[in-house]
Amino acid sequence: MSVPTRPDLGSLPAYVAGRTVPGAIKLASNECPGGPLPSVRSAIAEAAADVHRYPDMGVSALADRLARKYDFPVERVAVGCGSVALCQQLVQALCAPGDEVLFAWRSFEAYPIVTQIAGATSVKVPLDAAHTHDLDAMLAAITPRTKLVFVCNPNNPSGTAVRRADLVRFLDQVPPHVVVALDEAYREFVTDPDVPDGMEFARTRDNVVVLRTFSKAYGLAGLRVGYLVGPAELAEVVRRVYIPFSVNSLAQVAALASLDAEGEMRERCAGIIAERQRVADELLALGFEVPETHANFVWLPLREKALDFAEHALANKVVVRAFAGDGVRVTISTREENDVFLQAARSFTG
Ligand SMILES: *Cc1c(COP(=O)(O)O)cnc(C)c1O
Repeated sequence: MSVPTRPDLGSLPAYVAGRTVPGAIKLASNECPGGPLPSVRSAIAEAAADVHRYPDMGVSALADRLARKYDFPVERVAVGCGSVALCQQLVQALCAPGDEVLFAWRSFEAYPIVTQIAGATSVKVPLDAAHTHDLDAMLAAITPRTKLVFVCNPNNPSGTAVRRADLVRFLDQVPPHVVVALDEAYREFVTDPDVPDGMEFARTRDNVVVLRTFSKAYGLAGLRVGYLVGPAELAEVVRRVYIPFSVNSLAQVAALASLDAEGEMRERCAGIIAERQRVADELLALGFEVPETHANFVWLPLREKALDFAEHALANKVVVRAFAGDGVRVTISTREENDVFLQAARSFTG
């Protein structure tokens, strides 16, 4: 049978999820080791009794709670089915076919996908030699068709971060009709005070939104919940293209409980941050190029050796995320799992 589909469907890039290989350690999806926080797990179990009911369509309790946490009016918050859904909603709400969405490359692999789904056009600006956003080149790539710019800070997969002065200079020069989405999926792992908290810009600028997620530091990747904070007008248009009920009731409860467990989350992140330093130092000592990372992963720009390295890691029971011809991203996990990975890295002779 042949059904008529969109002519461009065949060219839609596939999202490559980190592989789960039985018996191997998965360091491929930037997940948090250790599972959901204990208090969150019991909140989820309790909420299971109510799953015959539709979730709160407006996600009101969670939106209120986030608004209070960041001291924003609730109109300026939108909650989504993971922040990847909010990325897609942003493109859908802002772009007509032919409009341009600008982002660095390599960056989060969902950007070109959600852009094409909405009929918009991706404009990719290469990272600079330090694997960091080239903000001047991005400014130069803005055209009258540009509607949205993603700045992933810290950047997935390179781990690098844009500093405050550079970001301010960039935002000052972006035309006011172009929306800048600061994707801060890894914000909780940032320790450098010079890497700005995007909320300060979302608060004061009419064209800046911040995206955050419960998938990484909070350990709720399987439940799918993230949020956007920005000007009321932008939060409103993002809510307008929301798929009804897509933030499920367990996700809403778990996110609320997670915000009550902030201290536990911070403690866990501190462990990951310490391990990140140890892993990066060991890799550097082994002779690998390791860009400075501000997230819960390291990036190895192995170029043409990327796939060989991933294969070697897998042979040593570690799944990493390889981008052919470019590099390998490795999630920081527990000390034990990181040691297995480091052992594999040590024996790589490619
Ligand atoms: C993981 C990730 C997200 C979002 O994840 P969700 O699970 O959809 O909330 C968004 N942006 C970047 C850069 C990520 O790495």
